[in-house]
Amino acid sequence: MRRARAGAGRVQLGKPSSNLFRFGDRDTGRGVRRLDTSALDGVLEVDPQARTAQVQGMATYETIVAATLPHGLMPLVVPQLKTITLGGAVTGLGVESSSFRNGLPHESVLEMDVLTPAGELLHVTPDGEHADLFAAFPNSYGTLGYAVRLVVELAPVRPFVQLTHHRYTTADAAATAIEELSGSDADFLDGVVFGPGEQYLTTGRFVDAPMPGARISDYTGQEVFYRSLQRRPVDHLTVHDYIWRWDPDWFWCSRAFGVQQPLVRRFWPRRYRRSDVYRRLVALDQRFGASNRVREALGGTAEEMVVQDVEVPVERLAEFLEFFHEQVRISPVWLCPMRLRGERSWPLYPMEPGRLYVNVGFWSSVPERPGDRWAHNRLVEEKVAGLGGHKSLYSTVHYDEDEFWGHYDGAAYRAVKQRYDPDGCAPDLYRKVTGR
Ligand SMILES: Cc1cc2nc3c(=O)[nH]c(=O)nc-3n(C[C@H](O)[C@H](O)[C@H](O)COP(=O)(O)OP(=O)(O)OC[C@H]3O[C@@H](n4cnc5c(N)ncnc54)[C@H](O)[C@@H]3O)c2cc1C
Repeated sequence: MRRARAGAGRVQLGKPSSNLFRFGDRDTGRGVRRLDTSALDGVLEVDPQARTAQVQGMATYETIVAATLPHGLMPLVVPQLKTITLGGAVTGLGVESSSFRNGLPHESVLEMDVLTPAGELLHVTPDGEHADLFAAFPNSYGTLGYAVRLVVELAPVRPFVQLTHHRYTTADAAATAIEELSGSDADFLDGVVFGPGEQYLTTGRFVDAPMPGARISDYTGQEVFYRSLQRRPVDHLTVHDYIWRWDPDWFWCSRAFGVQQPLVRRFWPRRYRRSDVYRRLVALDQRFGASNRVREALGGTAEEMVVQDVEVPVERLAEFLEFFHEQVRISPVWLCPMRLRGERSWPLYPMEPGRLYVNVGFWSSVPERPGDRWAHNRLVEEKVAGLGGHKSLYSTVHYDEDEFWGHYDGAAYRAVKQRYDPDGCAPDLYRKVTGR
């Protein structure tokens, strides 16, 4: 890695997959040297007694879960997409249906080895000499260095998860229920909004066996998980299939490829029903602008990609959804309650300890507004900031620089950047995520 950096100009991780949704060259594209990470994608050790795993930075959660489940253990928060890596989730944040209880993936990291942009390999712990780097690492997107080895806590599992889908006819009722359910003994909690009058919250509970006579569902075949919320009030999945329930249809985004049509689905090979396959297809389309060219050639309007995850305090959720249904009009929308696990706060993504937030995820496109290619994304940014929330930075970012640093603690970032990357070998966070 050192050799690759020396005199090399810009470098990026040469990973076989990515879950970023920016297709400019800063993260994913041309003109940069790629660091070979193929020897950094494994699980080094699972310690069932200590309930920890020692994992390399570019190991995917698919690899990690495959190593921990045989011990009856899983990471405290497993992001939904199989190729998200531990390093990517810690530096780019992550959230899942255990986040109302277990917080974010970086909160269960016990220690890390980080290769800084200046070329040093540092041992980084919550309270050690490099505690400032530990605190600023989440939401730094590789601009403060790359995590090459991490030790994370694990949690015990049971063989099955029993799911109950609760329906709510107003967003207010759903928000109230989120507050109640987040104080219950459920192991998992997330939800889907199909429209202003139709929202579901799903609670998941570990069980040793399904209820007598209950079926164990399989959504890697002909059925599509998100549709089951509307049809099947109670459901059971193996713990493995629960963890990966959103991956075979990339939540619902596989719809764009026709894969949810029974006929197409039958012939679409099972091994290609994976989020990374669909993402590769979207990346190709974005690179060549193919869909928009076809739309425009047929006399239609180009589309604006609105792919974002934002979080707002639970008491502002209904207000956000009302705005969203009026102004953006994408459906479905994913809801995931989240609360920091500990008392510690994380400067580059400032959430209040103890406060309940709801992550709202939407991943689609809408007709462009004439003269403003990013109008809907800007509206979302403005609304979220006004409601006291934040947005993740894995997709396009449109804030101007001052506003951006106001939301993501520019002063804290600059101090850590100066200490660990004094010569600016890696891009600055704002430039990296905006491409400016
Ligand atoms: C449609 C969609 C839905 C999503 N939904 C969710 C969701 O529900 N829950 C969730 O948790 N996340 C979700 N994500 C976001 C995803 O978790 C983040 O994009 C995450 O950062 C991706 O991690 P990756 O391992 O694929 O990293 P990459 O995409 O390869 O990289 C992401 C960034 O992290 C940096 N990076 C990667 N590895 C390391 C490392 N070891 N050390 C330091 N920096 C590193 C890279 O330089 C890059 O800037 C979603 C993304 C999309 C596109």
